Amino acid sequence: MYKEYDSIEHCYKTKNIPFLELGLSADTQMADGISELKNIIFMTNSDAHSPWPHRVGREFNRLKVKDNTYDEIINAIRRRGGNKFVLNVGIDPDLGKYHMTACTRCYKKYSIELAIQQKNRCTCGGIIKKGVVDRINDLCDQEVTHPPHRPRYIKTIPLAEILVQTLGLASVNSKKVQDLWKLLIQSFKNEINVLLVTPREEIEKIAGEKVAQAILDFRNGDIYIEPGGGGMYGKIHLTDKNKS
Ligand SMILES: [Zn+2]
Repeated sequence: MYKEYDSIEHCYKTKNIPFLELGLSADTQMADGISELKNIIFMTNSDAHSPWPHRVGREFNRLKVKDNTYDEIINAIRRRGGNKFVLNVGIDPDLGKYHMTACTRCYKKYSIELAIQQKNRCTCGGIIKKGVVDRINDLCDQEVTHPPHRPRYIKTIPLAEILVQTLGLASVNSKKVQDLWKLLIQSFKNEINVLLVTPREEIEKIAGEKVAQAILDFRNGDIYIEPGGGGMYGKIHLTDKNKS
């Protein structure tokens, strides 16, 4: 919405919007710098427009409801009768294609000041595209303040990206990566379990020590993400001990 509009009212012709979907490019930390969002529920929903199963089901919300019915979900969105959102899980926004301001041809990153100074022209002749971070900085009108109803937000990264790096391969679509990904999902039901819940020893039994260590490093925040920008996704960098 903020890509095209400067406020909720500007977009929807009303301020009375109960929820917004954060999208892959933003998280609670970024959005709660915008004061008009304080009463709005944030949803973190997966995209489902990829033919690759490993790209589906990576973002989700956890809701407190009494039953799995439409009315109960509406009550959670409206925060009625004790129903509420209790967790948001989303892909780390640093991985987004347009997270930072950068050139769309050579992907060189720019501060917004330098981009403006150069009239959005890169030294290579390409166009500089403003990143989500700088757009949100324009819109922020308060210190980041989480309202009491805001649930915890867990940032995830794609499991297949961990596997491709750990195995030292070039593509997440390579057969070895896909086979190991399927094996992990069959063993532990879904990607979120593998990334956040399954004990290290059980992952190690299926996928080996290096993959288990890399997942543990992710859980401990010991993975570096080089932010994306200009149309290039961010890159995950594992520590040296994970690489084969
Ligand atoms: Zn360039």
